[in-house]
Amino acid sequence: MAGILYLCPTPIGNLKDISERVLETLREADLIAAEDTRNSMKLMNAFDIHVPMTSYHEYNKTEKAYTLIDKLKEGTNIALISDAGTPGISDPGEVLVKMCHEEGIKVTSLPGPCACITALTLSGFSTRRFSFEGFLPSDKKERKEVLEDLKKEYRTFIIYEAPHHLKGTLEELKETLGGERKIALCRELTKKFEEVLRFDLDGAIVFYEKNEPKGEFVLVFEGLDRNSEKEKIQKNWQEMSVEDHMKIYLDAGMDKKEAMKAVAKDRGVSKSEVYNALL
Ligand code: SAM
Repeated sequence: MAGILYLCPTPIGNLKDISERVLETLREADLIAAEDTRNSMKLMNAFDIHVPMTSYHEYNKTEKAYTLIDKLKEGTNIALISDAGTPGISDPGEVLVKMCHEEGIKVTSLPGPCACITALTLSGFSTRRFSFEGFLPSDKKERKEVLEDLKKEYRTFIIYEAPHHLKGTLEELKETLGGERKIALCRELTKKFEEVLRFDLDGAIVFYEKNEPKGEFVLVFEGLDRNSEKEKIQKNWQEMSVEDHMKIYLDAGMDKKEAMKAVAKDRGVSKSEVYNALL
């Protein structure tokens, strides 16, 4: 019988957040695959868990996955943990899970701590619809594309950022989203100095000019408000060309057909009149 891969979330700051089920799974596993074995050893010692450990991290995530899959096929039960939080969320893990599915190995994911969900629920912004970006890409072109997508995002969105990059990222986000965009900076979640700072982007930038960012951060942004966006367009369309009017709806994520319909409705004309004006 093949073994099972168990994804085991670990605390993001408060040791008490580890679940009974995760502890039991870790104790009963044949092998624990950890992002940083030295770091995870401290956690294992804290819970008196003595199970062999192996490393599974960003730089060996594909080749090591083959080794782990061989072991799983031989019947080894493996628990995967990351440095903190849920394995697979801005952590290696995704690759191993995909390969296990391809090889017909059973994978199960135990619920538990995850910084993005903790931050979202604490942010005070809408939780009904949200998107998670993780760390913004470091590649310039890809980063620009992601930022452009975020500009049109109606859902609440969540970004991870390291403290030493925070100020630069806030400036960059202001350039794309505007200084008025609301943000909740969720810091040191589940730890002694947990705090949620709610600003607009201009306010956050001023604050961090005076206060050096310290600790771990999750940035949660309010999405665009569909109604106020529509109001803005409806108030101002008289002063716009049909092209500019179209562009606003296209930038908001509509396709050409939907945008033409919306423009026609605002202007009280038919779609073919909009079409002709665009030609
Ligand atoms: N797998 C983890 C999870 O489930 O959230 C995320 C790992 S990612 C490598 C690390 C990032 O998560 C940090 O840079 C920070 O943005 C966020 N993070 C992790 N722990 C946090 C905490 N206690 N407070 C705020 N942010 C945290």
